[in-house]
Amino acid sequence: MMEEIKVCICKGCGEEKPVTDFWNDKNKKNGLRGKCKSCLKKEMVKGRKKYYQTHKEKLIEKAKKRYSIKNENKIKREYKKRATLIRDFLKCNKCNLLKPLDEFNKGAYECKECRKKRYRIRKKEIAEKQKKYYAEHKEQVKESMKKWRSKNYEDAEMRRQTRELDEFIFNREDNELDA
Ligand SMILES: [Zn+2]
Ligand SMILES: [Zn+2]
Repeated sequence: MMEEIKVCICKGCGEEKPVTDFWNDKNKKNGLRGKCKSCLKKEMVKGRKKYYQTHKEKLIEKAKKRYSIKNENKIKREYKKRATLIRDFLKCNKCNLLKPLDEFNKGAYECKECRKKRYRIRKKEIAEKQKKYYAEHKEQVKESMKKWRSKNYEDAEMRRQTRELDEFIFNREDNELDA
């Protein structure tokens, strides 16, 4: 049996790269595309840009009909959103990178990475909101803190008194024994 091929030379950049850097191609002898992922991605970006540039007017015209949106800028934006799907790639509307479909959640126009970033920012916003809430409702927050503390204080006080009582009884027993 032949040993499994682990690396492959890219016909684009000429570099030897692991097979995981190549997409599968059933039509090829070795089952891989001739060029590596990053080369193909670059080509696709170039191709998309060129296609958009040369067919701009037509595409906008088409989009106009399809979406019947009168505002041209709006159409351009709409077109960008929908027409960026090229084979298995989608352009992220946030970072503008062309990424494989599995880097996107279904129906999303932003990649998972950008989504995560957005969530992180959102988290921060929430934290800030809480801070703001505290600043604006200081008295209320303080009041409930005080209640919570005083309840704990009561518990602590009870434990202290019980301990004192224990000591008292213990000492008295001692004293009685002494007497
Ligand atoms: Zn390459
Ligand atoms: Zn992105």
